[in-house]
Amino acid sequence: MSESENDYKVIILGAGPAGYVAAIRCAQLGMKTACIDNWNLDQNKASPGGNFVNAGCISSMILLESSKLFDSIQNEAHDHGISVENTRIDASTTQNRKQRIIDSISKQISQLFEHHQIDFIHAQGKLISSGQVEIKEHKKSTKRTLNAEHIILATGSKPAKLACADIDGDAIIDSTEALNLDEIPKRLGIIGAGLIGLELAGIWRRLGSEVILLEAQDVFLPSTDSDISQSAYQIFTDQGLDIRLGARVIDCKKGKKKVTVEYQDQSGTHSLRLDKLFVASGREPNSETLASDQTDLMLDENGFVHVDDNCCTTLPGVYAIGDLTTLGPMLAHKGLEEGIFVAELIAEQAKKINYNIIPNVIYTSPEIAWVGQSEQALQAINENYQCGVFPFKASTKAQAIQQTEGLVKIISQQETDVILGVHIINDQASELIAEAVLAMEFSASAEDLARTIHAHPSVSEALHEAALNLEDRALHLLPTLQNHAAD
Ligand code: NAD
Repeated sequence: MSESENDYKVIILGAGPAGYVAAIRCAQLGMKTACIDNWNLDQNKASPGGNFVNAGCISSMILLESSKLFDSIQNEAHDHGISVENTRIDASTTQNRKQRIIDSISKQISQLFEHHQIDFIHAQGKLISSGQVEIKEHKKSTKRTLNAEHIILATGSKPAKLACADIDGDAIIDSTEALNLDEIPKRLGIIGAGLIGLELAGIWRRLGSEVILLEAQDVFLPSTDSDISQSAYQIFTDQGLDIRLGARVIDCKKGKKKVTVEYQDQSGTHSLRLDKLFVASGREPNSETLASDQTDLMLDENGFVHVDDNCCTTLPGVYAIGDLTTLGPMLAHKGLEEGIFVAELIAEQAKKINYNIIPNVIYTSPEIAWVGQSEQALQAINENYQCGVFPFKASTKAQAIQQTEGLVKIISQQETDVILGVHIINDQASELIAEAVLAMEFSASAEDLARTIHAHPSVSEALHEAALNLEDRALHLLPTLQNHAAD
């Protein structure tokens, strides 16, 4: 059979970070590749990049910058001798700026598709069988079938629904809507003090909202090292976030203008009247309409696509990557790495992903980042370990640029000194964690970090100092700070 324009080596469903990177790598490896994405299909305005670029991490990061600038003009400029009067913010201009940046990032992905001769198809795609995908383009009444030797499913995730808080897109909103508000709510309630809840809480707080986070769990950021989560709780509450732990939302009622939330905690049932309620109680996979009922694609009870360690689904030649599976955390860079892995697997060149050394970042201000094990996780498995901590208030560079909040904590194995985990809370934590990830990839010891020359002054010296402090050799640590290193 001769090859037609509908025949590909690889078809990818989804152009988020997992999908578009898989497409680029497949094309680099010489495969005829198509990538199908349905973002904004109803408006016929393609915008590759997925939720991550259009309504997730990138949007949040852009708004975070605006909110930090507004905050520093109001609260820090005078200390620099800069007078700014009548500072005001127009949230719709802030949103327009955000959209311009998103459009530019998305355009860059389109250009990468063109450069690599990847067929980008703006359409709704559905897996029909191993080797076949059905697509429906905007306003076209007929569907088309595309064929491929390999199909990569990368359709990502969406905000999970909460039975007690029905999203109406007005008073009760999800993360997409919470990122698109063009008026600053006076009183904003957030269900869930997880990653998304916290990232958005800080933004709207800085822009002027009163923000109340209702978190069902008693422990704040339970998967984060407890020194870091305690420090974060202190910093965020000092910034004005009202974080209520052990507060489970059980009901929401919409009035004409306000929404009333009922929640339970140890002391009973309480109610709150809010201008907006943002539901940030988790995400679920976009798998509802992913495959036709005739396929044997296996999903778990929560809709995640079942895969083995190589991202292979139950169908031959069909792979799933990114937020669609439970292999590793729901993180953009995990999906991105799986995109590379599967492309190379198809080309028979794959190297295994090390799921134990994936950096985690919470893009708050300050940021929180970690890699490897927390102290409490190591205690749970009776591991022998030692810790070195260094607070940023002792760092020369951090003092010079006034980013002294937070700390670095390095945990190494007691006998071998091999690094088991690195935990950071600081404005530049997402950048600083890269050094720790690299060190752990090479099975470095804390002493290796201690003997590595770091630029002086630099914020990264805090890692050096934390490594030195494992053996009480930190250079810039006064005893007063030593005792309160984790404050
Ligand atoms: P999450 O699971 O991190 O947090 C949701 C929180 O909501 C939980 O702590 C849960 O206890 C709470 N909750 C649930 N029901 C509740 C109720 N009725 N009342 C009060 N609290 C309730 O989920 P998320 O923040 O929505 O994030 C979803 C996923 O997206 C995460 O897995 C995360 O890894 C990923 N993500 C990553 C980043 C990043 O890397 N920076 C950013 C955003 C999201």
